[in-house]
Amino acid sequence: MAKRVLIVEDEAAIREMVRFALTRAGFEVDEAADAAEAQTRVFERLPDLVLLDWMLPDISGIDLARRFKRDEATRELPIIMLTARGEEDDKIRGLEVGADDYVTKPFSPRELVARIRAVLRRITSPEHEVLEVNGLHLDQASHRITSHGKPVDLGPTEFRLLQFLMSHPERVYSRNQLIDRVWGGTAYIEERTVDVHVRRLRKALEPYQHDKFIQTVRGAGYRFSPQI
Ligand code: CA
Repeated sequence: MAKRVLIVEDEAAIREMVRFALTRAGFEVDEAADAAEAQTRVFERLPDLVLLDWMLPDISGIDLARRFKRDEATRELPIIMLTARGEEDDKIRGLEVGADDYVTKPFSPRELVARIRAVLRRITSPEHEVLEVNGLHLDQASHRITSHGKPVDLGPTEFRLLQFLMSHPERVYSRNQLIDRVWGGTAYIEERTVDVHVRRLRKALEPYQHDKFIQTVRGAGYRFSPQI
């Protein structure tokens, strides 16, 4: 399921840029222009992560982060602070109140997406770290893949591709959707590159007959399914 990110920022242009980049990278995005609106949004629907600007018109981002960390319902909510360039004290204070990371303005959409993914990966609970389908194991923490206990050797792109497909079984993804979700929205990748990596992935899984899990859906894209 798509992760939901709440961006709390009073500058509409930055909100728009972030929404565009995150949507392209496969996130769902909520917006709030100040701390009061942020609290309402979080109360309505708890996001998976909050991007929190330091400078807000009502109360500061740091005070809002502190409130979130004090409240039982939002204590575990991951927070990435957006800080102004060179404000070292801000970064340290942000981390002190429990923010998980910070991104310095101006930031690139690619960097932001990478930071968000890294924080979300870090907070993933251990029981979700191993994906298993019919003897095929993918350990998201150690990046090890085994089939019935035997190691499967994959390149980094094939690993991410398999990780994405195994996390979203029984759904068809077009080549363009896979580019967004596996390579990231800002990467320029041609559709046939996806086919190349799918071919490599199938080849690596073939000795274990797991290649048939990666299914071509004619005219639509690819699907991961243990059912033939
Ligand atoms: Ca601001």
